[in-house]
Amino acid sequence: MAIETNDTTIKEKPSNFLDEIIQESIAKGETRVQTRFPPEPNGYLHIGHAKSICINFGLAQKYGGKCNLRFDDTNPVKEDVEYVDAIKRDIHWLGFDWAIERYASDYFDQLYEWAVALIKKGLAYVDDQTQEQIRETRGTVTVPGKESPWRNRSVEENLDLFERMKNGEFPDGSKVLRAKIDMAHPNMLFRDPIMYRILHAEHHRTGNKWCIYPMYDYAHGQCDSIEQITHSICTLEFDVHRPLYDWFIEQLGIYPSHQYEFARLNLTYTMMSKRRLLKLVQEGAVMGWDDPRMPTICALRRKGYTPASVRNFAEMVGVAKRDNVIDLGKLEYCVREDLNKVAERRMAVLNPLKVVITNYPEEKHELFTAINNPEDESAGTRQVPFSREIYIERDDFMEVPPKKYYRLSPGNEVRLRYSYLIKCEEVIKDAEGNVIELRCTYDPMSGNGSSSDGRRVKGVIHWVSVPDAFEAEIRLFNPLFTKEDPDDVPEGGSWEDNLNPDSMVVTRGYLEPSLKEAPIGQPFQFERVGYFCADTDSTPEHPVFNRTVTLKDSWAKINK
Ligand code: ATP
Ligand code: MG
Repeated sequence: MAIETNDTTIKEKPSNFLDEIIQESIAKGETRVQTRFPPEPNGYLHIGHAKSICINFGLAQKYGGKCNLRFDDTNPVKEDVEYVDAIKRDIHWLGFDWAIERYASDYFDQLYEWAVALIKKGLAYVDDQTQEQIRETRGTVTVPGKESPWRNRSVEENLDLFERMKNGEFPDGSKVLRAKIDMAHPNMLFRDPIMYRILHAEHHRTGNKWCIYPMYDYAHGQCDSIEQITHSICTLEFDVHRPLYDWFIEQLGIYPSHQYEFARLNLTYTMMSKRRLLKLVQEGAVMGWDDPRMPTICALRRKGYTPASVRNFAEMVGVAKRDNVIDLGKLEYCVREDLNKVAERRMAVLNPLKVVITNYPEEKHELFTAINNPEDESAGTRQVPFSREIYIERDDFMEVPPKKYYRLSPGNEVRLRYSYLIKCEEVIKDAEGNVIELRCTYDPMSGNGSSSDGRRVKGVIHWVSVPDAFEAEIRLFNPLFTKEDPDDVPEGGSWEDNLNPDSMVVTRGYLEPSLKEAPIGQPFQFERVGYFCADTDSTPEHPVFNRTVTLKDSWAKINK
């Protein structure tokens, strides 16, 4: 619901503390809500970013405001248009659209002018020390830093040197521009922070125009200010940066954007660092950024997640002020909930056992009507072919069944979903005693849920017709890491030691023929088996299906 921002009587309760902050600023007279999502285009977005997207776009939406997309492209070495395109696609897929698309690099001229202004005010200087020397002389929390021998250069000299830095006269690392604040400041970030560094690198947007690039702390607040961002929302680790964010804005006397922090999302059995995810991709530990085992948005999409399930998850975990770790099971719960509503049902057998229905005519073929989605009548019905030979799941037969086993066993009768009652008459085994086939009879009067004498059976199992089903590669996914916290390793170990060797299990299955036309990515519930979708690797000659999620939360219990 959009709330008039000039109406100071907000009736809706805030949904989290950021929402509360916005309501407070509106109560104080703020007439706009303008947020931004500021990804660095150095990797693909992950589920943590999805949360930040939902917060930034969601809050703007709620208050009739706007959210900008701003690429924080201040580090040309690691950034690429490939990532820019992927980020835009992922935000759209999540169901959001930005008011304007900007790049920090759009503001390089303005940022440069502001740096010159700060030099003129005696608030910035060119330092000839190496970055290493600067680090070494910064001091510690308890020991003040040492002033640079270049700290007291004249304004003229600084202006001249800074311009020559821009003009490319100096090699990388030979000089930096620093803010002149206080080398004994209790906040280490105030000890003459670096504003610009020399980097002779081609930028994916500005090409070779620049060979000096602004640092995050110098760029971010000013970019927010240019866009008149009212609420600059970021993750907790930036709280120590906030005073510096404010300092630059204050010294420059520009639009006062404000920064607010929330706790980043962490998930069990998952890793969110882009640097590490990139490593997995580069080392071939996964099939790519969109490998369904990755926590990236494109991977979730490929795996069969819906945008609504990701948004619901972001809503469900809420916005915290303290770091915490969310159970991966919650994400799976959200996708299960949504798919239960939207996914059409199909029949597929992953671990087949052949059943021959001996009293069913060999040449006969019939079609049974199956309901596509019991949760959604508008999904309609489809026809499923039936014949004398079918596959059922191996698990749906037991030669020596325990009590209360209602599925198939010798002499026992079971309902075939949407079809007949069958009774197991004979068990065929190979030389080693493995069951390889069942001989059953069917009750011809029992089609479509009825029976000849009105008798009912407790067990209903799914099946596919042998001559009609098609074989597909099935990819079952398990968590990428074996430990809740992938960093939980013995001394000297690496997080990579915790990679789960069984994170992807490839098997084969027999699918009902209607699934041949399944569009890539469209979710289906394979009845009694789980949620699946056709993978991007799938072709008519070699169909591939991903398991999006199991029907029940199984691994969480087993692993705990
Ligand atoms: P990484 O450390 O994995 O490289 P990042 O924080 O550098 O991620 P950015 O592209 O700078 O990635 O992030 C864009 C926005 O998304 C930032 O506002 C950042 O705070 C937010 N964000 C990143 N990771 C998470 C997370 N795990 N949970 C919530 N928000 C996040
Ligand atoms: Mg970042």
